Amino acid sequence: MDRFTYADGKLACESLPLSKVAEQIGTPCYVYSRATIEEHYRRLVEAFRPLDPLVCYSIKSCGNLSICRLLGELGAGMDVVSGGELFRALAAGVPASKCVFAGVGKTDAEIEQAIKADIGLLNIESEAEFENLGRIAQKLDKTVRGALRVNPDVDPKTHLYTTTGKRETKFGVDIERARNFFVEYGQDPQCRLTGLHLHIGSPVYTTQPYVDAVKKTLALIDDLALLGHKVSVLDLGGGFGADYESEQSLLAADYAEAIVPLLQDRVAKGLKIILEPGRTIVANAGVLLTRVLYVKKSGDKTFAICDAGMNTLLRPSHYNAFHFIWPCEPEPPFVPTKRAKSMDMPGLVPIDVVGPICESGDFLAVDRPLPPLKRGDLLCVFTAGAYGMSMASRYNSQPLPAEVLVAGEKMDVIRRRETYEDLVAHER
Ligand SMILES: *Cc1c(COP(=O)(O)O)cnc(C)c1O
Repeated sequence: MDRFTYADGKLACESLPLSKVAEQIGTPCYVYSRATIEEHYRRLVEAFRPLDPLVCYSIKSCGNLSICRLLGELGAGMDVVSGGELFRALAAGVPASKCVFAGVGKTDAEIEQAIKADIGLLNIESEAEFENLGRIAQKLDKTVRGALRVNPDVDPKTHLYTTTGKRETKFGVDIERARNFFVEYGQDPQCRLTGLHLHIGSPVYTTQPYVDAVKKTLALIDDLALLGHKVSVLDLGGGFGADYESEQSLLAADYAEAIVPLLQDRVAKGLKIILEPGRTIVANAGVLLTRVLYVKKSGDKTFAICDAGMNTLLRPSHYNAFHFIWPCEPEPPFVPTKRAKSMDMPGLVPIDVVGPICESGDFLAVDRPLPPLKRGDLLCVFTAGAYGMSMASRYNSQPLPAEVLVAGEKMDVIRRRETYEDLVAHER
């Protein structure tokens, strides 16, 4: 569900027509719906209430301070994967005790920063990292709570680049090795191994990979208990899906229905659960607005050349991801009633929606059935709230776009559009 709907043929975010946003702020521009973010967060909390989890929003999906602050105020903790993200979490007013720090390549400086801030949980990915962590904790004379990232060898059936829970990934250690890990390090007084961490991939559109992963992990927890190691925190990671097409994804309640029964009695006995959702909260809560600069025919192909490209939204060219794209104010017969890869309306024409970047891989959509487009049309790229702005770059010296947060009929610019001065501000 989201709050981007056509009313009288015009696309609005909540009660604000998106053409108004584009007129005032310019394009390209990311627009987020406050009510959608709030509702997605609340639904998740509601669905998993029997487990009373700490919901740590994954900052890397969309790190704008205003959005982190909004989620922090709703009660969320933060899942951070770098020192920069920890800085964002703290700047947004979220206490470090509600932050978890994951990532395969934490630098010494980042580990020090996290320990000094008294981070809630540090997720550990290798023996070498644990030893380094112990050394730094000792130097600072502090204790840390660590969770070992295990890789339960399940296949989430998602894109190769976002599959993280199979045996041969750079993330975590396999279950066998996890046992030895605890034997070796489980009694360390300075760096206390108190938890297990999973993150199997993203987006995961079925519940079975979670069920398999949780079952394997619970068996590991029981094995570890026999060896005298108590696991008191289980961090299930993220990866819940979002609707890139209409009703593509399960709801929070569906994931919960499969996962909650596996864990309820463990929670009753004191196991603390953490969730790290990113995409499922913000993906459908954000869109990208872009203006058609030129329509160009080359051979059999029609290109709509827009002011947003792979620099603005990387997912289509990086993951071959599908984003529904449609004009904000289409001619009346073309007002869409769903969002799908193949829209069956008479009069649609296949168009490549591309950006201004000097790369043939610079596209938002290829051979996409769309209403005929013309110069000046305003297009909406849907489900762009997650891994949109956070993966945007300044390639070709394109300043980063503005971000706008809409509530009702009001909008707030939560990141101003960059200027050319910003582009060179760090250079000499
Ligand atoms: C990326 C990531 C997440 C969030 O994934 P989503 O698909 O956005 O929910 C959670 N945990 C870790 C460790 C991650 O790397």
